[in-house]
Amino acid sequence: MKILKYTSLVIFTLLFVGYLLLQNHTVQNRLFENTVKELFKADEIFMSDALSVAVCGSRAPLPSPNRAETCLLVQAGSSKFIFDLGEGSAANLQNWQVDYSDLEAVILSHLHSDHISDVPEVQFQTWLGGRKEPLTVLGPIGTKSTIQGFTSAYELDAYYRSEHHGPELLPIEAYGYVVTEFDGDSEVIFQNEDTKVTAFKVDHFPVDPSYGFKVEFKDRSIVISGDTIALDVVVEYSKGVDVLFHDALAKPLIDRMIKVSDELENNVISKVLFDIKNYHADTIEVAEIAKKSEVDLLVFYHLIPAPRNQTSEQMFLRGVDEIFTNYHVSEDGTLVSLPAGSEEILIDLID
Ligand SMILES: [Zn+2]
Ligand SMILES: [Zn+2]
Repeated sequence: MKILKYTSLVIFTLLFVGYLLLQNHTVQNRLFENTVKELFKADEIFMSDALSVAVCGSRAPLPSPNRAETCLLVQAGSSKFIFDLGEGSAANLQNWQVDYSDLEAVILSHLHSDHISDVPEVQFQTWLGGRKEPLTVLGPIGTKSTIQGFTSAYELDAYYRSEHHGPELLPIEAYGYVVTEFDGDSEVIFQNEDTKVTAFKVDHFPVDPSYGFKVEFKDRSIVISGDTIALDVVVEYSKGVDVLFHDALAKPLIDRMIKVSDELENNVISKVLFDIKNYHADTIEVAEIAKKSEVDLLVFYHLIPAPRNQTSEQMFLRGVDEIFTNYHVSEDGTLVSLPAGSEEILIDLID
């Protein structure tokens, strides 16, 4: 009994001293400095000599905590690409302290807001990061006009920041974008000695054009579906590919959401949820595409809706296991690495 009393007294004293220390300004300053050091420290997140994909945004427009809208950061050897930049994705990239010195281009699959809204943020981040020329953007027909809108909207901001921080840090001639549009059913949009990026047309009607992509680096490759219904062309492009990243709509979840929305007589939500079903592949169709194309790994991204707990993840995946088992439901920070000259597929999470 005495021992218990003594132990309680010691614990209470330690807690009290700890509390007092946390009120001390020097201790507070040191703790904050340590947090900032972690934030500013640039850790390399990618393996060298590999094709890697970091999911910088895993959700579609339906909100979900701790997830940004669509974004995939791809490292192919010494070249970097960002496929789509939805809301919140630039903050992920900033938190990861991404090295933009080898960024070749921002590549847009289509011009829906959940794929483009953080483009100006990354334009600014890369400008502040030392970019000496305007940012290269590749996108479908319409991209020039959309980007022109961003350029106009942020023009004053650019002058203010250049004036404030000085032209050495932010040269005004490096502000903005150089846009190249691609067209047709299929086009090689980037190529160097070991990397090739091909855009291929998908079906996201009435969003036309909308594209998917194949990225090849040495002996490794991936396909990114973009936003699309289930298509044979995705099967064709995915044959012999290591990993397929596919957008996916979970009917069991969307149908329940429509039911609840109907009961609440929220006609707007019901109509939107009903409409989105006709321009995205559902999880079962995506599993069938992965099976037909015999990819080694299927990664679900652009999740509609993104599961919030184990129950909704089980509902998201209902029926998938019966068709294709080697899949991964991505979250923000999912990192898939494919080292060249091997068959390895490594899955990790950036913290
Ligand atoms: Zn989308
Ligand atoms: Zn879309």
